[in-house]
Amino acid sequence: MDNILHRKIRVGISACAYGSKTRYNRKGWDLVSEFGRDMSNFIWCPLCPEVMSGMGTPRSQIRIQGESGRDVIEGRAKIVARNGDDVTEDIMFASNLCMDILRRSEVDAFIYMDGSPTCGIERTTLKNNRAGKPPGVFGAMLLEEDIFLIPALSLASPVRRWDYKRRLYAYVWAKSQELSNKNDLYQFWHNVKFLCQELDEKESRVMGNRIANSEFSPELAAELKAFVTTLMKKPSTLEKIKNRLWKHYVYIKKTQGAEISEIMEPQDNRNMHHIAMELEAIEKFAFTNDVLFGSMPARSR
Ligand code: SF4
Repeated sequence: MDNILHRKIRVGISACAYGSKTRYNRKGWDLVSEFGRDMSNFIWCPLCPEVMSGMGTPRSQIRIQGESGRDVIEGRAKIVARNGDDVTEDIMFASNLCMDILRRSEVDAFIYMDGSPTCGIERTTLKNNRAGKPPGVFGAMLLEEDIFLIPALSLASPVRRWDYKRRLYAYVWAKSQELSNKNDLYQFWHNVKFLCQELDEKESRVMGNRIANSEFSPELAAELKAFVTTLMKKPSTLEKIKNRLWKHYVYIKKTQGAEISEIMEPQDNRNMHHIAMELEAIEKFAFTNDVLFGSMPARSR
């Protein structure tokens, strides 16, 4: 069992986060170019439910009149435009259409623009730091799907971008693995256990003990895959990432006798850009020398 992704990752994205000027005021931001050389590992599917509703851009701003986008879907709330038009039917039509397109595209992940009454998940407005009435209509539909969700604005932070990238790679890799015997289970777990422990130490110990003490069964294999793919959706923290970075570096130094010049001592002060640079340096070393970097268990070709 190798830890290589053998296909490109398919990613849906709110079009305005992909650089398209599709917002109501004809604005948009390119939040993905920072992936740099990793861009070639993805196939993108940008879409904008509000434009696809027929409203175009520029357009009147819309808001949820009622509790949330979920209530809109269930017929208990409406979407109204600032000019007073009821656009519920248009947004519902376009959100369903976009979901159909994402299913046809077989996307693994979706990068959503938060702060929108349509694509938002934690927020449906960006006004005065309010959350609005989350989730938005399309956001509520995304939450029902088994896909990896990424808030577009988090990609502006280099460390968070790295964290999303390595968990997404591991998620796609884990989903693609066939686990047919005990050896498969062991190898699979060996690859992902360090990252699992970083994300949830307690539950990962429980899972590790189960694998060690159980006979192979298809049910256990399915449970293990579900455990890992669910856990990969959970963001890590800066402290945990830094801590694991140092542990892996010490291990690599000891076993490979290698020094990586970019990596600083744990107590040294450095900014997020430098930490991301250290993570990428150890990632590169591990991949070039075919050493498992437990913080990033799956890699592209
Ligand atoms: S947040 Fe969604 S609906 Fe709004 S402009 Fe961006 S892609 Fe379109």
